[in-house]
Amino acid sequence: MLNLVLFGPPGAGKGTQSQKLIDHYQLVHISTGDLFRAHIKSQTSLGQQVSKLIADGELVPDSITIAMLEEEVDKNKEAKGFIFDGFPRTVPQAEELDKFLAGKGAKINGVIALDVDQEELTRRIAERHKISGRPDDDAEKLKKRISEYFNKTVHVLPYYESQGKLAKVNGIGEIEIIFNDLCTVIDQY
Ligand code: ADP
Repeated sequence: MLNLVLFGPPGAGKGTQSQKLIDHYQLVHISTGDLFRAHIKSQTSLGQQVSKLIADGELVPDSITIAMLEEEVDKNKEAKGFIFDGFPRTVPQAEELDKFLAGKGAKINGVIALDVDQEELTRRIAERHKISGRPDDDAEKLKKRISEYFNKTVHVLPYYESQGKLAKVNGIGEIEIIFNDLCTVIDQY
């Protein structure tokens, strides 16, 4: 199995690159943000539970997020591997993911952080807001998401760095060039 974590702040391009990576490596893409949005859209009880938190740019509690993610992995028994996008976002999520995969005789092979500066992130999300209709893309909510990222999510980086699994890729520039840089890293796993 090849299991990757694509890591980066809101607007770093994780979704765009994940789409290209799943085609190239035949992996299953699991985006916790997309899963939550699907629950909200179909008004499931999970969706009702998390919609306000998400609209406000706050993180969903670990217990809810982890249960949803594990269920999604278990739905894909034939998968050759996974790209985790937007998960783990906290250290407890990262620890739980390691335990969960170990129970299946699998592991995270590598974590790639897309590096994009704050100015470019703000510009990209302002642009996306015009078409996405995501309530959490508005400027005020975006500030909250970025602060959640810097308060909670960045701590996931040293967790993986200490395991020797972290690589950084420049996330600014042409989509194809960034994709090639990602493939160069992944082909070494
Ligand atoms: P972004 O574009 O900010 O990377 P996502 O689409 O990945 O956003 O996620 C949108 C929102 O869903 C987050 O702001 C958060 O509220 C919730 N969410 C997604 N993944 C997680 C997670 N792993 N833990 C907690 N909350 C999450």
